[in-house]
Amino acid sequence: MRFGAHVSIGKGLAGAVAFAEELGCDAFQIFAGNPRGWARKPLDPRDVEKYRTGLEASGLGPVAVHLSYLPNPAAPDPQLYERSVLAMAEDYRRAVQIGADYFIVHPCKGGPEQNRETALRRVAAAVKTVLRQIPGKALLLLVNQAGAGTEVAGRIEELARILELAGEEERTGICFDTCHAFAAGYDLRLQEGAAGLLTEIDRLLGLSRLHLLHLNDCIGECGSHLDRHYHIGKGKIGREGFKNLLTDPRLATRDDLAGIIETPADSADDDRENLAVLRELSGEEDGR
Ligand code: MN
Repeated sequence: MRFGAHVSIGKGLAGAVAFAEELGCDAFQIFAGNPRGWARKPLDPRDVEKYRTGLEASGLGPVAVHLSYLPNPAAPDPQLYERSVLAMAEDYRRAVQIGADYFIVHPCKGGPEQNRETALRRVAAAVKTVLRQIPGKALLLLVNQAGAGTEVAGRIEELARILELAGEEERTGICFDTCHAFAAGYDLRLQEGAAGLLTEIDRLLGLSRLHLLHLNDCIGECGSHLDRHYHIGKGKIGREGFKNLLTDPRLATRDDLAGIIETPADSADDDRENLAVLRELSGEEDGR
């Protein structure tokens, strides 16, 4: 498995490659712009060029582009929904423009009055609209969520349902987040919990649709629905939970699979430490 971190584009796209290299990443994830804003300035073609050259020289990959926080493709409000689809399209276009492998989307949440199937249908329609509008090789990956309140896709069944409704099998897949799954009630601390989860993904979607892991420990208890990430091995999932997942032969043997940390980082050392723990737990003691 290849390990990496979410890195900043504060020093441009080319800067992100440099950050990822400094951290000793194999792969990395970025935002395509300000994650807390709707507005997007066009990408600087010189930065894109520098990024592509730097990336090629670095040997890093896969690269994931994460959709910003504001869009909600399950939104019942028509205006927010429309805005969300436009924003998704814009960030997807950027992912394609920079040649990213994956585009990561949270299905977000429906309204209190809305039935869940309706929310799932809206997400599926958003996915379909974006992919039909913009051709490209970046796979759109939906992330499982913590399942708090009206948040959809806490269960793998719902992720599978969205992808079924969206069609576009060749261009979609899933990104599995450990913190969200644990908060949603999947107990990774138990070996049969981790193994059962992979069996469930395989049964409902096929493990070939799983392209990326978001490796985050969890502050909340199993089933708390609390989406608060923490340092690997130091949260409620703990070292054993990650070991269960990372050493499962169905994942451990996959060279194409990447695991990205989105853990708190007060300094680069936090990311380095979390990556080291993951490599240790996956049996790659020597790291890279
Ligand atoms: Mn999260």
